[in-house]
Amino acid sequence: MSKFDLLETKGEWQSADRPLAVHIYPNNARDVSAAKGFVKDGITQLLDQLFGGPIDFYEIYYFYDYRYFPRKSSEDAESLYREFKSWYQGKYDHRIGVHLVTDTEVLGGRSDGGDGTTLNSFNNARCCAAGSDYSGSEGRSTAAHETLHSIINNELPGVKDMLPDGDEHYLGKVYSDGNTASPLANNDNEVSSKGDCSADREQDTESTTITSCAYDAVQLTSDDAFE
Ligand SMILES: [Zn+2]
Repeated sequence: MSKFDLLETKGEWQSADRPLAVHIYPNNARDVSAAKGFVKDGITQLLDQLFGGPIDFYEIYYFYDYRYFPRKSSEDAESLYREFKSWYQGKYDHRIGVHLVTDTEVLGGRSDGGDGTTLNSFNNARCCAAGSDYSGSEGRSTAAHETLHSIINNELPGVKDMLPDGDEHYLGKVYSDGNTASPLANNDNEVSSKGDCSADREQDTESTTITSCAYDAVQLTSDDAFE
């Protein structure tokens, strides 16, 4: 029996050529409203920007069965990610797509990444953790950030060319208009000014608005996955 409820969907599955599924897991009962609220909103805002290009159909599911919530370590993003990953493997990794656990007592996130032709969320199960001890723009942006890592195949030549050190955060930038960071530039990591979309400015706020570089990287990954 499925323990997933459908929260959002867009497109026609009967004619979909480039589908993407995202599964959101609250780590504990206290994380339910975040999972169904701003985490889901951040992912929806991301997928809406990809719709019509890299994806033509999406579904966002919510893991609803509280008796089976992961209940993994809330120490930090790394522990949550590692423990969640070993928990969901063999249970739900037959479902292709993104598997994202969220915890309202964790800051930051981690992702499997989407690296390799058969190891991204278009053709495999990829997992990530997005902490959400905050809400609003920062929480939405972090959910979008980790989801992007799980999709983008940075081993593809066209993607590699945009990443001087193989670091996907170079696909993000801080927009000059109001110093708002795109999802991949939202975490204050050491990203210097390289490429067209680098985050070489101080950020004031975070957003889910992706750069043309992040969009192109997802498009190249989708082309490779579905052609
Ligand atoms: Zn990152």
